Amino acid sequence: MPPLKVLIMDNYGSDFTRIAKALRPFGLAIMWTESLNDGLNLLAQAKPVMVLVGQNLEGLKDPTDLLSVIQAKRLPTQLVVMSPEPNFEKSMDWVADGVFSVIRSPISIERLRRLTQRILDNLGLYRSLVLCEAKRDVPSDLFIYKSLAGHAEVKPLLETICDTAMSLTGAGRAHAWTGVDLDQNTAVNVAKGDLKLIGEFETKVDFQWMGRQLATLKLVFPNRLSEATFTEASLGELVYAGSMFLSHAVKLEEALMLASKDPLTGLANRRVFLDSLNREFFQAKRHDSPLSLLTLDLDLFKNVNDTYGHQTGDEVLKWVSAAISGVVRLGDLPARTGGEEFSILLPRTNLEQGAIIAQRLRDALAESPLPECCPERIRPTVSQGLASLEHFLVNSPQDLIYWSDQAMYLAKRQGRDTVRLVTELSGNTNYQDVQYVFQ
Ligand code: GH3
Ligand code: MG
Ligand code: MG
Repeated sequence: MPPLKVLIMDNYGSDFTRIAKALRPFGLAIMWTESLNDGLNLLAQAKPVMVLVGQNLEGLKDPTDLLSVIQAKRLPTQLVVMSPEPNFEKSMDWVADGVFSVIRSPISIERLRRLTQRILDNLGLYRSLVLCEAKRDVPSDLFIYKSLAGHAEVKPLLETICDTAMSLTGAGRAHAWTGVDLDQNTAVNVAKGDLKLIGEFETKVDFQWMGRQLATLKLVFPNRLSEATFTEASLGELVYAGSMFLSHAVKLEEALMLASKDPLTGLANRRVFLDSLNREFFQAKRHDSPLSLLTLDLDLFKNVNDTYGHQTGDEVLKWVSAAISGVVRLGDLPARTGGEEFSILLPRTNLEQGAIIAQRLRDALAESPLPECCPERIRPTVSQGLASLEHFLVNSPQDLIYWSDQAMYLAKRQGRDTVRLVTELSGNTNYQDVQYVFQ
C-alpha cells in the first residue's frame, strides 16, 4: 500500500525540517510547494490526506478557497491553516467553514503530531485496516446495516467496490450492500461475478466511518487456492477509499436531512412539502388513486404569544406537531408550511377518509395533556380545510393548496375549531358560484 500523502503549500523555510520531523512517525509522504497553482494540481492528483497551507501563501485570497476544490473533487483531504499570528475570530470562521484546524507557525512538533493523529483516526484508516482482516463467520445476507438512505451515488460505488475487490483478490463472487433499516427493499444491494458460486471460502469486510457502519462486502472464493491470493494490504486500500467515498455520501445525506426539516417541530419543511405534493399529485393522477390535502392554522395564536410569551408559543407549536404526528399514518406527510400553519398531505385518502383524520386531530388536540409550561387556560384549537383530487375544482397541485386554504378560511369565518371541506365551498354548483362565495 503506497504511503498516505501530506501536501504543504507555503513559502519554503526552516519549518520544513520541523514538519518532516513531526510527521516521520506516521510514515507519511511529504510534498512541498511554494506555488498555489502547483499546489492545486498536486491536490487533485495526489489526493493527500492533509494539506498544510500557509495563511500568507502568494495568490491565496482566503484559505477556505481550497475547501471548495476539496469538496468539488470529493478529495479525502483535511485542510490545516498555518498562521504566524492566528486570529481567534477568523479561525472560528474558517473552522465553521470546514477547515480542520488552525496552527501557529513556527509549528510545534507535538501539536502537529496530535493533529495528524486525529486526522488519521478520523479517516478511519486504522480502523479499516484492522477490520479488513478476513472474517470467516459470515452472517446471512439479510444482515443490513443502518446507513445510507438510498443515496444515488451508492449503487455505482458499490459496483466499483465489487469489481475492484474481485480483481484485487481473485474472488469469484462479490456482494456489497448497505441499507437504512431491516426492510430489505430499502437496502442498496449489488452482486457481481459468478452468482451461482457457492463458496466454502468466504470473507466479509466492513466499511466504517467514525464508528458508523456504512456498508458490507462479502467475497466468495471458488477454492482455497484463489483465496490465498487475497492480499490484506490491497484490500485495505480499497476499504480506505470506499469508506472515504461513502462517508461523503453520508455527510451529503445528513445535510439534505437538515435542510428538509423544520428545526422547531421536526416536521418536514415547506420545500419538502411542495416537492412531495407535486410528486404525489402526478402519481395519484397516473394511478387514478385518491389524494387529499389538509391545511390547518392555529386559532387566535397571536393571543398565546402576546399573553404568555413566544417561548410558550413555541411549546404549543411543538405540542400541535406531536398531535399531528400521532394521528397520521405511515406514508402521510405532515409539514410545517408557515409560522402557525401546517399541511398534511394524505396519499391514497379520499375526502371522506380525510375528514375522519381531521376530526381525529381535533379530538387529539382537545384531549391531549398540554405541555407543562402551558397554563390550563390555553387549549389550542385549529381551523382545518380539506381538499381532494376527486373534486372537480382540483386540477393541479396548486389547486389542492388553494382550495384547502379556502376551506380553512371558511372554518375561520364559521367560528374556528372546526373542519370545512372543499365541497362546502362549491356546493353542487359550478365554478362561477364558487368565485362568488369568496368575494
Ligand atoms: P387566526 O385564528 O385568525 O389564525 O388568529 P391568529 O392569531 O392565529 O392569526 P395571526 O395571523 O394574527 O397570528 C399568527 C401568529 O403566529 C403571529 C405570530 O407571532 C405567530 N407565530 C408565527 N410563527 C411563530 C413561531 O415560530 N413561534 C411563535 N411562538 N409564534 C409564531
Ligand atoms: Mg396563520
Ligand atoms: Mg392562526
